[in-house]
Amino acid sequence: MGVLAVYGVKNASKRIYYGLHNLQHRGQEGGGIATFDATGKYYHYRGLGLLSEIFTNGELDHLPGEMGMGSVKYANDAQGGIENVEPLFFHHRGGDFAVAADGNVVNARQIQDYLEKRGTIFQTGVHSEILAHLIKKSAGEDRIVNITKALNMMEGGFAFIIMTPSRIYACRDKHGIKPLCVGELDGGYVVSSESCAFDIMGAKFLRDVAPGEILSLDAHGMRSTTYSHYSKHRMCAMEYIYFARPDSDIDGCNVHAYRKEAGRRLAHECPVDADLVVGVPESGSSAAMGYAEGSGIPYEMGLIKHKYVGRTFIEPTQSMRELGVKLKLSPVQSIVKGKRIVMVDDSIVRGTTSLKIIKLLREAGAKEVHVRIASPMMRFPCHYGVDTSTLEELLCSHRTLEEACKVIGADSLGYLSPESTRDSCFGCADPCQACFTGEYPTLLYDDQNCED
Ligand code: SF4
Repeated sequence: MGVLAVYGVKNASKRIYYGLHNLQHRGQEGGGIATFDATGKYYHYRGLGLLSEIFTNGELDHLPGEMGMGSVKYANDAQGGIENVEPLFFHHRGGDFAVAADGNVVNARQIQDYLEKRGTIFQTGVHSEILAHLIKKSAGEDRIVNITKALNMMEGGFAFIIMTPSRIYACRDKHGIKPLCVGELDGGYVVSSESCAFDIMGAKFLRDVAPGEILSLDAHGMRSTTYSHYSKHRMCAMEYIYFARPDSDIDGCNVHAYRKEAGRRLAHECPVDADLVVGVPESGSSAAMGYAEGSGIPYEMGLIKHKYVGRTFIEPTQSMRELGVKLKLSPVQSIVKGKRIVMVDDSIVRGTTSLKIIKLLREAGAKEVHVRIASPMMRFPCHYGVDTSTLEELLCSHRTLEEACKVIGADSLGYLSPESTRDSCFGCADPCQACFTGEYPTLLYDDQNCED
């Protein structure tokens, strides 16, 4: 999921719309924008699909105001449907507000049980609603105190945006698992899941929101509060490896630079005799460039990505994913024919995509296909909102390297080590790698099976 908000910016809804376009890679199942005008009146519009499919008939003209927020949504099967598209809006005698989130609260079920036993009725399956009810449980006190209390009850990897008629709060989990950054825009402010949204909006990057920090943006400017003194930098490694856009900087590290460095290290850890390095576009391309640099084997564009086709990893159902693979890539026959190829990709989740791409390369005449992955073997599920799949579906959850190689039909298979995955990261000293190592940075609860 991707979240974005602006404060003190003319035509807020249009600026948000452009910013959200640069976060579209974080979710294509739905999106929404909400604003408050100067009188405190709330407006919103949301829908299912891509932003370009949702905002088609001048809806942005009916979202007035100089402050607003938006989100793009990836939905798993349980969270589909328009009712789960954020921002969510809440009426309350203590003041109206809207909420949107990226990420996952790992003790959501326990908090929901607690609240339901005390009479709360939930209307959606998203964790923003849990936060809203927790905030309102403490109604009557100062709002920042209520938000602080609510966030301290939540465990997980999340970035929340909360908008009241006069203020925006931007909150990042205390482990620093989810990205969130703040920029300056026309004398006002913008917060975003990724810094790549700032360029298209004309905003200037100021800094990352710190783990455990709540930023308040209002007429007094930008103020910072810490909701937890337990503050770690365990940024999600998969953001660098796969999820984020290459032009984003997260916690002081550019995503493209990270992937290239990972590719260089991969070439030293998993060398192979070959004629060409071919990256799986697009998230494998930067690592392939690094592998070529590190190995001295020429880089070639052996696979072409068709534009306008969604990403397969984050499409919710298996049948949609399988159709997606066929639609999205073509091998370049004149380049790969008769060649020994090193195929570099960012990660392997289920293995179905790799199997199909290797088959495509062989059908195009490749003599050998050696697969090199710029991350470690993915063996465990993610509990922080990245749909890396269930334990049973993961290619490597119960297979050796040799068995995985056989399943995808490669001539050889090699993965980057967890050490190099960590050391490719220039800003975050110790990123979360739980889906590779099984060492989760947060507590887990009964319903989260992390057994190997
Ligand atoms: S478990 Fe994996 S995907 Fe999930 S936050 Fe950690 S590194 Fe990211």
